[in-house]
Amino acid sequence: MGTEVVEPAGLEPAGLETAVVEPAGLGTGTEGIEPAGTGTEEIEPAGLEPVALGTAGIEPAGMGMAGIEPAGMGTAGIEPARMGTAGIEPAQMEPAGLEPAQMEQAREAEEPPGSPALPTEASQDGPPAAAPPGQGALPAAPDRERERVRRRAGAQGSAGRAARGRARRAPGRRSGGENDRRPEVTVDSSKAKTSLEALKISLRQLRWKEFPFGRRLPCDIYWHGVSFHDNNIFSGQVNKFPGMMETVRKITLSRAMRRMQDLFPLEYSFYPRSWILPEELSLFVAEVRMIKDSNPSWKPTFIVKPDGGCQGDGIYLIKDPSDIRLTGSSQSRPAVVQEYICKPLLMDKLKFDIRLYVLLKSLEPLEIYIAKDGLSRFCTEPYQEPTLKNLHQVFMHLTNYSLNIHSENFIHSDSVNTGSKRTFSSILCRLSSRGADVKKLWSDIISLVIKTIIALTPELKVYYQSDIPAGKPGPTCFQILGFDILLLKNLKPVLLEVNANPSMRIEHEQELSPGVFENVPSPVDEEVKVAVIRDTLRLVDPQKKKRKDTQCQSSEQAPGPSQELPDAAPSPEAALPSLCLKQVFPKYAKQFNYLRLVDRVAALFIRFLGVKGTTKLGPTGFRTFIRNCKLSNSNFSMAAVDILYIDITRRWNSMGIDHKESGNPGMCLQAFVEAFFCLAQKKYKARPLYEQVALLVNQCECRLADLQGKRLLWGCGLGERQGALPATATAPSSPRPHGRQVFRLQKPSQLRALMCRDRTGS
Ligand code: ADP
Repeated sequence: MGTEVVEPAGLEPAGLETAVVEPAGLGTGTEGIEPAGTGTEEIEPAGLEPVALGTAGIEPAGMGMAGIEPAGMGTAGIEPARMGTAGIEPAQMEPAGLEPAQMEQAREAEEPPGSPALPTEASQDGPPAAAPPGQGALPAAPDRERERVRRRAGAQGSAGRAARGRARRAPGRRSGGENDRRPEVTVDSSKAKTSLEALKISLRQLRWKEFPFGRRLPCDIYWHGVSFHDNNIFSGQVNKFPGMMETVRKITLSRAMRRMQDLFPLEYSFYPRSWILPEELSLFVAEVRMIKDSNPSWKPTFIVKPDGGCQGDGIYLIKDPSDIRLTGSSQSRPAVVQEYICKPLLMDKLKFDIRLYVLLKSLEPLEIYIAKDGLSRFCTEPYQEPTLKNLHQVFMHLTNYSLNIHSENFIHSDSVNTGSKRTFSSILCRLSSRGADVKKLWSDIISLVIKTIIALTPELKVYYQSDIPAGKPGPTCFQILGFDILLLKNLKPVLLEVNANPSMRIEHEQELSPGVFENVPSPVDEEVKVAVIRDTLRLVDPQKKKRKDTQCQSSEQAPGPSQELPDAAPSPEAALPSLCLKQVFPKYAKQFNYLRLVDRVAALFIRFLGVKGTTKLGPTGFRTFIRNCKLSNSNFSMAAVDILYIDITRRWNSMGIDHKESGNPGMCLQAFVEAFFCLAQKKYKARPLYEQVALLVNQCECRLADLQGKRLLWGCGLGERQGALPATATAPSSPRPHGRQVFRLQKPSQLRALMCRDRTGS
């Protein structure tokens, strides 16, 4: 684990001054810290793209059980059949110490946003007014510094719209002078939709050239509001990955997480136990009954969430599986039913969740960044654990902005640390002032994010090779994702969902008088979101790469004073704050690479897809995979292979999955993974699933490397002379993009040495 320290996001001294700090007591959860927000300002929707307001028609579920006290599912000790391996504890019952040992190091190394371990200049301003003993070094100075930098960069705080307008114009591009020599980065913002405002501010700060109506010539970057396919693009970079929306839908995400929970139950315990409706209704009923039978004190609550829904749309809580509604327009939609986290961490007696922004900068090689600050969205009714009486109270149980904005208790605030929407750093600061281990929390969050992305990459790679097949001109992709996270009382983070299109709006509607709305700025949103967009752009800056290349070349040519680079003008970077996005992968790759097993299975799948542009494997491709990897034998005939293919493929295709190639009867990745797990279990009985799969993946990769080596040798003419050869090619330790394995052909002398070694058995 590296030793680099994540710089803390600035904390708001104002918030610290007003925070009434509780001595300790994270454990009690319901204690008040201070009355929520005295602020008066407006808050911005934090939901997804769709504008429709949530219709979460939560009604009391009449059939549920009374006297609810969620108790230890963990003690039930019942293994759902599908889990395959050791029991997955319900997230809220998970002890805090289930981290992989290596994360301990990350914990030490990472500085969380809002951590009190901040530069000591803070003391120059004196300790914040209400700072508790021992917290005197809380960050006045970093904030002041940030404010200064922000002004320089042209961002604006909360000084009203006129000031905002002035400030936004201030850093506009200068004409003439040295800056004109710097090639401009061009950005097509014609499809940016609701992120347009934040994007425009970012582009002004960077002095990049915006094309609001598109451009006939290609642009360097295309900023899409919804999906990869918003434009036809053949070059440059686009801010969406193909298939991301499909991959993070509630059902697909649940499937991906379950697959990982099957393989790595402890590592993936941050995702609540979930079932898919309607296909797993009977499994859900049976598992709940089984657990209840063995542990009668278990009084669970479940949350039902329609697939593809957002902003709380169609969500309801139940106490008993029999309360699931399978009729009605939204209820008949496929949905996920999930264990409800009954004991979340509260602040001001309110439930809240965290929206964190994560940049997936590249899929291959995997590059992940996390924004140091995010948002916290608060409920507007004091929280009580779910009972039949309060199950329907959305303002108590659901943190969605789009729902709570309609509550009379909703508090708009100009300040980042009061009101119904605050910055995440303000929450951390508050927790830290109560003595909580926010470093551990931050490292747990980093771990959750990396593991979640690792669960999503196999599917994404299949979409990627289909939309941008190797050899076909296409853009490269990056994407900002919104992670919704809930904290348990023991500060363990739980993943609720991943949003492919997190709202990047920095304004929100305010009702001036009944029925009369106006768009007003939301300083809290602007503070967080502009930084995320701007710094994403800085990270993908195509000119930076070109400049680096040029610098490399010219340094090779021993540059003298006369050899000035063509774009030696001062960079606008100099005026910008340090990046708010911090790399976490590959930085922590060593700790997490062992989890990338399904990625390797997906690489095998992609390798045998055959037809460019497809996402499904035909029966011939599957047979070839079996043959080339030598997986059939007298116990497992090719006829049995065909039956396996037909059985699994038919089942997956009958699930009515919203798939890119719904009409294609072939085998999708998830079906292939299931088949692969079957083969692994068959071959390596009596071992944990992870080992079974890892062994089979190794075997397949070795056999394919062998085969490839032989082909290369035959291509060189060596094979003819030497006959069948041993493995002579080196396969990379991890799969390459699009299933293209890269083999380094050895020199003939090395080959001969290898062959001799093999013959002698050494
Ligand atoms: P949507 O996309 O409709 O917002 P979410 O999955 O984010 O759906 O759920 C909406 C809200 O419901 C969350 O913001 C959170 O407050 C609450 N919620 C969702 N899942 C759970 C859960 N398993 N336990 C407790 N609360 C949850």
